[in-house]
Amino acid sequence: MFLQRSAVAVARRAAVSPLVRRTLTTTAVRRDAVQDASAQSAKIKTFSEIKSSTDLVGPGAKPGTVPTDIEQSTGLERLEILGKMESVDIFDMRPLDSSRKGTMENPIPVRSAGDEQYAGCTGVPADSHVVTWLGMSRERPIERCPECGSVYKMEYVGPTDDGHGHHDHHGFEEPKTFANFVKPQYW
Ligand SMILES: [Zn+2]
Repeated sequence: MFLQRSAVAVARRAAVSPLVRRTLTTTAVRRDAVQDASAQSAKIKTFSEIKSSTDLVGPGAKPGTVPTDIEQSTGLERLEILGKMESVDIFDMRPLDSSRKGTMENPIPVRSAGDEQYAGCTGVPADSHVVTWLGMSRERPIERCPECGSVYKMEYVGPTDDGHGHHDHHGFEEPKTFANFVKPQYW
């Protein structure tokens, strides 16, 4: 009986030991990777050191290793990651203010770095109605939710020298809406 039991114990140990060894090996590799990353971090430009798009190229991974995001990402993705590492949310992913209903006098601001911006309204408080998507543009920045009446206004925060200022648009005229036919005294 004793012999049998020890045989089982030996078998169990044999079955378990490769797993244990592998876990330790993996841990050792991971620790190496962390050390490599800290050694490389001297070469990685931080968020405040980024001056142009040419700075947004990572050093790449060492041969034979799997690259991490910080090693291989480029462009806006890299800028976003570098910003997150310093708690800077470069794309401003916070939800819109839903603590109050926007009015024409005091609309809910929607910041946009582009010519157009879509915003989803779910009412006040948030999730009071199904999401209603509202489109705003630099030409027509104010939009009102048809479900709850909350007013939103796009605030352009993008570059000012993007060639948008000439307002010619090669003869294109924006389509008219009901807002174009409201009598002035009703505004
Ligand atoms: Zn709404």
